[in-house]
Amino acid sequence: MKQVRLVAFDLDDTLAPSKSRIDPEMATLLTELLGQVPVCIISGGRFEQFSAQVLDALVAGPDLSDLHLMPTCGTQYYEWTGADWSRVYSEDLTEVQKDTVIKALTEGAVELGLWETRTWGPVIEDRGSQITFSALGQEAPADAKKKWDPTGSKKELLRQYVAERVPELEVRGGGSTSVDVTRKGVDKSYGMDKIKQRLGLVNDDILFVGDRLDAGGNDYPVKAMGIGCVAVEEWEHTAIFVRGLIATLAAQAPGETVAEQAADGAAGFSAVAAGRPV
Ligand SMILES: [Mg+2]
Repeated sequence: MKQVRLVAFDLDDTLAPSKSRIDPEMATLLTELLGQVPVCIISGGRFEQFSAQVLDALVAGPDLSDLHLMPTCGTQYYEWTGADWSRVYSEDLTEVQKDTVIKALTEGAVELGLWETRTWGPVIEDRGSQITFSALGQEAPADAKKKWDPTGSKKELLRQYVAERVPELEVRGGGSTSVDVTRKGVDKSYGMDKIKQRLGLVNDDILFVGDRLDAGGNDYPVKAMGIGCVAVEEWEHTAIFVRGLIATLAAQAPGETVAEQAADGAAGFSAVAAGRPV
């Protein structure tokens, strides 16, 4: 059995409530964890989202050279230079692709009666490597989003409409009100492949923590590729797991392996959670 060489986290509803800043407790835990093992955060969101939700909250001044940021599912990669965050690459859509996608999303939403007049923030956002449609806007309140499309049927109609018009691209339902368009084959497994190449890792070196590991969830592709995964439902679960992992790593003699938690993250989590019910 091998040692964990990277702990990767989903962001929304894993490290923090959706679109919210991480709790000070999580900031402390991430800082501690970074002292022991490299950490990757991967999400469909933009770098600015990582910055607002995570980086701005890391007040303790951890060494960030072991923190790897993969916005937009790893089609972008940021590393810490010692002074600032530097974008190492960004696999953007072409301008022609972007124009076609934005036109299809706009026309589709209008035609299908999904273009809302009451919105919060931009409805269509160009994230470089991803175009995102958010029916109620990027900053819509959670309860309004929840009510908009409880069955997912509106999103699916728009997804189909756009997919027919840009068959060379991937069109997916994103969050509760959003549709994401990227190059084909871009999901979190794409990002994990990129970080594996970048750091010279294999699946067994990595432990992934996410809230949507169910089939169809946006974290599922990571599980399907064979990386050891830990399922959580909210950041408080993640906090319990990370606390346990820090203790395990700290207790470990150099060269020793990370016992059960590395081999079977979910079981490790259950064991930790059993000791501290939420
Ligand atoms: Mg999530």
